Amino acid sequence: MPFAATRPQLAHLTAVMDDLKARGTYFKLRVLDDEQGPVCHYDGREVINLASNNYLGLCNHPKLREAAIAATRKYGVGSGAVRTIAGTMRIHMELEEKIAAFKGVEACVVFQSGFSANAGTVSSILGKEDFILSDELNHASIIDGARLSKAKIKVFRHKDVAHAEELLKEVQNEPGRKLVITDGVFSMDGDIGPVGELADLCERYGAIMMVDDAHASGVLGRNGRGSVDHFHATSKVDVQVGTLSKAIGALGGYVCGSRDLIDFLYHRARPFLFSTSHPPSVAATCIAAFDLLESEPERIARLWDNTWYFKKQLTDAGFDVGGKTTPASETPITPIILGDGRRTMDFSRALFDQGVMATGIAFPTVSEGKARIRTIMTSEHTRPQIDRALDIIVSTAKTSGIL
Ligand SMILES: *Cc1c(COP(=O)(O)O)cnc(C)c1O
Repeated sequence: MPFAATRPQLAHLTAVMDDLKARGTYFKLRVLDDEQGPVCHYDGREVINLASNNYLGLCNHPKLREAAIAATRKYGVGSGAVRTIAGTMRIHMELEEKIAAFKGVEACVVFQSGFSANAGTVSSILGKEDFILSDELNHASIIDGARLSKAKIKVFRHKDVAHAEELLKEVQNEPGRKLVITDGVFSMDGDIGPVGELADLCERYGAIMMVDDAHASGVLGRNGRGSVDHFHATSKVDVQVGTLSKAIGALGGYVCGSRDLIDFLYHRARPFLFSTSHPPSVAATCIAAFDLLESEPERIARLWDNTWYFKKQLTDAGFDVGGKTTPASETPITPIILGDGRRTMDFSRALFDQGVMATGIAFPTVSEGKARIRTIMTSEHTRPQIDRALDIIVSTAKTSGIL
């Protein structure tokens, strides 16, 4: 059977793609030929990889591979059901207990992804009479969860605690509950959310405090406990979301908090109720990863060493790495801001041709006029690899008229 060409019913999609092509922001997926590493092959070309979230090199750590293989041998490849029907394996419970102990909270629930953890939690703990106060740069999964909850959404200016307070005051006398939510680390700018101050604000106004720590898990705080630990705010944050997909190296998301919160999510969070749980290999991998955060803290130290070195070199070379037109990065995520979408995508492609994988990010992932190359350092990049990447970035910027 030949594949059907797009029929008129979907012609509007073709029109959108044609528009992207005209703007120069259409992309093809880059395909990884080997494993996620500091140097690897995409589309058959060897590149220094500045695009992955594999902060600590755990995607391919030998102990994690072994854990996944051992669990597969012992328990098979699938869990066979959603958690609430028959798909809760002992290893799922072990992982939740492990994370709760690591984070110093009563309980934890693991979701299939960070996206579903956010969306499933925000949408279930609030209803239409409630209010959500959300940082303007919060992740899409928070925005989707907020929309699904039907609560009234108020957006505060990026990291602007005074603005958040203004909005809280406006709704103070309304009967609904109030939830304040911020990313711990903002994924496109690499700046850190004012978690401590927002938590204090929530205390004063009796609001629920929630933090999405996807890019802070394994990166910030003691042994990578996250931004809430970094700000010593564990007792003041009601809902801590983390991901198992980035520094932890595998896949999944989790919510940490009180026993009651977690029990409630077991009963009401729709991705938990209606989507099958992780394969045992994934749960086993994550358990091994949390052990490593404790036993190999030097990975996190190396990550930060590389981060400060790389940032300084980029800044000294004269790039806008945030701080001028966008927030200043304070984490291993360092954007190179170019502004124009087409120019950014062209630069990214030129870098790739020269041997550096650094993804161009344009509208709608970031707002119009804020297009950028996003770089991410890892603990596994060697100094010669970093220097080589810097040479390529600088020389390509010069030939492209960016520097
Ligand atoms: C990546 C990310 C998520 C989603 O996590 P996944 O586990 O990849 O689904 C959620 N929030 C933020 C801020 C992120 O950067």
